[in-house]
Amino acid sequence: MNRPANHVPEPVAERGGLEALNFDNRFVRELPGDAETANRRRQVLDACHSRVAPTPVAAPRLVAYAHEVAALLDLAPADCETQRFSEVFAGNRLVAGMDPYASCYGGHQFGNWAGQLGDGRAINLGEVINRRGERWALQLKGAGPTPYSRSADGLAVLRSSVREFLCSEAMYHLGVPTTRALSLVTTGETVVRDMFYDGNPRPEPGAAVCRVAPSFTRFGHFEIHAARGHLDTLKRLLDYTIRTDFQGFDLPADGSLERSRPVYLAWFEEVCRRTATLMVAWMRVGFVHGVMNTDNMSILGLTIDYGPYGWLENYDPDWTPNTTDAHARRYRYGQQPQVALWNLLQLANALYPLIGDAQPLEAALEGYRTAYASDYDTMIAAKLGLPRLADAADRALVDALFELLGMVETDMTLFFRQLARVELPRPADAGPPAELAPAWYVPAQIDDAYRERLVAWLEQYTARLRAAGVDEPTRQQRMDAVNPRYVLRNYLAQLAIDRAEQGDAGGVNELLEVLRRPYDEQPGMERYAERRPDWARHRAGCSMLSCSS
Ligand code: AMP
Ligand code: MG
Repeated sequence: MNRPANHVPEPVAERGGLEALNFDNRFVRELPGDAETANRRRQVLDACHSRVAPTPVAAPRLVAYAHEVAALLDLAPADCETQRFSEVFAGNRLVAGMDPYASCYGGHQFGNWAGQLGDGRAINLGEVINRRGERWALQLKGAGPTPYSRSADGLAVLRSSVREFLCSEAMYHLGVPTTRALSLVTTGETVVRDMFYDGNPRPEPGAAVCRVAPSFTRFGHFEIHAARGHLDTLKRLLDYTIRTDFQGFDLPADGSLERSRPVYLAWFEEVCRRTATLMVAWMRVGFVHGVMNTDNMSILGLTIDYGPYGWLENYDPDWTPNTTDAHARRYRYGQQPQVALWNLLQLANALYPLIGDAQPLEAALEGYRTAYASDYDTMIAAKLGLPRLADAADRALVDALFELLGMVETDMTLFFRQLARVELPRPADAGPPAELAPAWYVPAQIDDAYRERLVAWLEQYTARLRAAGVDEPTRQQRMDAVNPRYVLRNYLAQLAIDRAEQGDAGGVNELLEVLRRPYDEQPGMERYAERRPDWARHRAGCSMLSCSS
């Protein structure tokens, strides 16, 4: 392994697309920083960030980039297809205006307070203001140790970086709030990981992803200062966040706590609303985050930190992709909305010292419940092509459908997509529709009882559509707008990873291309819309993942 001698990245001298990036590093400018500058693991008290440079790597090589994200930064494809781009987004060089730092946060992990966590392998490069005046923060994941790395190395392996890169963009194109991914670069170095923590460490190719988001602030950023009783820092971070990352909240100019309180509460209600929206979106597309610790919850309501996430293939509300959580299944698909509420409660606890009154915080949490329930109903109605769920009979229709999905192994994505292809009304003596066959994993499970229930359900569904006056073109259009054809199936990501580990970026780029239009039929791309093949049922990376990354 050949490391460049001195680990201080040089500012890039030439002018160009990257050189023209307009940095305005407000987070480090306005929030209290760590007095110590050495890159030594430590508790960082009463500060929001520590300055730290990325660690240069031996041989950066671009695997993929997202031109849409580059465009947010006013970068053209030509700017991304240069060696300089790979060098910068592997952490080997800094562009003028970058001011790298790691931020301090804490968090509740698997239900327990874990103390200081922080950006242990994420290094923020700075915030770019684009031509439209938007603020975009740039963050390298896997760029070397920081003061928050605890006992770990600050690095990331290619497999987890491919997964983060692809899923960020897949989620965006699905219409799910998310952090974005600009680039995926291999480092030319290896990183040792024991994938299942079972005494089998092996060297894997290293990589770094550059993430992009309006901000990377997490619930845990607030929790850490509250837990330490550092209320001045907590208030500064809160005022900063409301002013910088949110719009329409009017904080008093003199910082009066008294007059800030109603604004804090209105803001917390907004965080609750956004979190509800995010949970509904995850449930709609069958996404399971896998590690919903409070340090992995974005204050903006974005999906953040793609680790051992997975996509529901056969519908199973108890499924989790995360083997580290296989026993308790705290973060299983069906429990995500409740966990989000628990996480919001931890955030409310962190705000409490500033608010001094539990009642309005509890009311906001109740608001989360109400918003989630109502948005969920609207979402499920849309998945069925209905304008809304009107009454208990509609809810019973939905319950009966999910019961059917659980009766035989059924691919959730394919089922909803194909349901729009079933022509309604159906002839009186018709059996189960052939259009749904691609969704069934084990055709032998389809017995007479299931057939009867399915056919009866389709009749009720047809009657409900007729009562609501929904014609077939309207139904299909509504359903196809919310039921994707293409999602980042676990095994598809793994196939792309297998190729990337052999030095072939083709799989990653093909998948990225398909996932750009998840709701469109894409002739010739059907192989990316098939149910999980049998070989993938128990293969590592396809059905089992761990936090090792
Ligand atoms: P996660 O479980 O990935 O959300 O990470 C929890 C905490 O561990 C965060 O503070 C991460 O920055 C940190 N962390 C995870 N992996 C590494 C690593 N390889 N090196 C340093 N810190 C890490
Ligand atoms: Mg994390």
